[in-house]
Amino acid sequence: MQRVVCPGSFDPVTNGHLDIIARASGLYDEVVVAVLINVTKHSLFTVDERVEMLREVTARYGNVKIDRFHGLLVDFCANNGISAVIKGLRAVSDFEYEMQMAQMNYRMAKVETMFMTTNPLYSFLRSSLVKEIARYGGDVSGLVPDIVLARLRDRLAEELRPGPPAVKLGLPRTAGRLSARSAKLLTRVHCHAPYTHQSPARRARLRLALARPPGRLRTDPAAHCASPG
Ligand code: ADP
Repeated sequence: MQRVVCPGSFDPVTNGHLDIIARASGLYDEVVVAVLINVTKHSLFTVDERVEMLREVTARYGNVKIDRFHGLLVDFCANNGISAVIKGLRAVSDFEYEMQMAQMNYRMAKVETMFMTTNPLYSFLRSSLVKEIARYGGDVSGLVPDIVLARLRDRLAEELRPGPPAVKLGLPRTAGRLSARSAKLLTRVHCHAPYTHQSPARRARLRLALARPPGRLRTDPAAHCASPG
């Protein structure tokens, strides 16, 4: 049985991904779509959400299975009896990096990589671009499956919805993303004016302060906020 893997972040799955998955499912006995678990990378959707969306949009293909992995792809392949990786190539710019990965995977574990050229309809399409356009209110319908489109709209609306502490502090709309803990920290450094009225330098110091553990912040609030911008 020829089992192959389509690895990626799929944050979220696009019609470009789906095109490659569908074509691969017609060529191989089983296609495992493997979502990379990357704890260091900020993602819009959790791994569970990405897996769920992939399951929904690939439900019509009987031989497509959705899974997740972390660590080395070659280890995932060895543990799942997978002999080849399928990658979509959008442009020459993809090729250089993909070729290095393919050669490294072959050297490490004799795992082959098969490249599929993108459907020209989707050659410009990447998840990060979809998120960016949607975030600024652009129309991404036709670029992602409908269920993804709906989830994308909901998630971005949640992101922009200001929470109560942010409103109290007069933070800009995007700062509505501040967690309650971050908002509390901001209050603790007792800025006399709202965030929006701070100078760019002071805003940068505030953001830095928020990235630090609370203990350090409490001991020296002035260093983060009270000094002249
Ligand atoms: P991205 O965030 O760039 O969409 P992913 O890591 O989710 O990247 O993509 C996984 C793999 O899917 C990529 O390595 C690439 O092979 C393939 N892929 C992504 N977008 C497309 C596309 N528009 N056309 C063809 N293949 C694609």
